[in-house]
Amino acid sequence: MKPVVKIGGSLLKSAEDFVRAARFVVSQREPPVVVVSAMKGVTDALLELEKSRSISIYYEIARRHASVAEALGVLEATRAPLKELKDALKMPREAWTRDYFASFGERLSAIILHAVLRRLGTPAKLFTAPLLTDDNYGNAEPLALESADEIAEPGTVAVVTGYIGRSKEGRFTTVGRGGSDYVATFIGREIGSRRVSLITEALGVMTADPREVEGAEPLPLLSIYEALEAAKLGVKHFHPRTFVPLLDAASTVVEVRSYESRGTLIGHFYPPPPCKVVIRCEGGSYIIGLAAYELTKLGGVLLSRYAVRLNMAPRDAHELFIRPHLKTLFKR
Ligand code: ASP
Ligand code: MG
Repeated sequence: MKPVVKIGGSLLKSAEDFVRAARFVVSQREPPVVVVSAMKGVTDALLELEKSRSISIYYEIARRHASVAEALGVLEATRAPLKELKDALKMPREAWTRDYFASFGERLSAIILHAVLRRLGTPAKLFTAPLLTDDNYGNAEPLALESADEIAEPGTVAVVTGYIGRSKEGRFTTVGRGGSDYVATFIGREIGSRRVSLITEALGVMTADPREVEGAEPLPLLSIYEALEAAKLGVKHFHPRTFVPLLDAASTVVEVRSYESRGTLIGHFYPPPPCKVVIRCEGGSYIIGLAAYELTKLGGVLLSRYAVRLNMAPRDAHELFIRPHLKTLFKR
């Protein structure tokens, strides 16, 4: 089944970035479903715009997209949504207007990437918010995927908006910040993909924050259970439910990687090391791992089956419980 590739917003800052993303998509063995995030910083700007209704913020957002689209020769495709956004400034505030404003980020970047793929001669179809969700605006829950058959159709790249969906009433919804990954894993499950690739700036899921912990490394493998904990505890700013769709998709693997790295493979397996990720928390560290419960012997407090809290600085916890195992790990 068609693979899913999600392109993160940190990788969409310029016209060249869209070309890079398009080339990456084209280089895949099989034309994938591409789930696209808003350009870097745009969701924040749109939410600010909804609050302030500031015309100068509007022009800043419009200018960013128009200049990227113009450099790519696809300006025409952005005109209608940018006009729609301008008109939205007059809308009264309702429960759904924040999500409506936020939707433009993913809509615009999907439109641009789709147009670029077409210009490169790649058969591609655009799907705007095919996700049906409940109407819990700002934190909507995906319920179903519309046009699943069309999205899954082999031979064509399906460009799909991340982060957003539609409620029964037909209004745009958002699944929560960082939610494009969640949309990607949900779609992967719905169409039965074998692989969902979450492409980011990072090399993969790291054993700790490398800015704070020396010797932190990308993990080659992570079990689904560890990944669920990692997302819940805020690793890499994942949406807390990012890996939930994997629970009932036993033959799907998710890879978290950059364009070049091999990244971290997440799936239904039980790989070493026994403890995998350390996260700073108030008064110490969270430690995630299939054998994290062992640390209760050292005073660790069990948070859930695969995570404990310890009164120990992340650096020390990493040095003691994770680093010694990394040397013996198969390096991917
Ligand atoms: N654009 C959305 C956000 O900034 C969703 C995402 O990028 O995953 O939260
Ligand atoms: Mg993200």
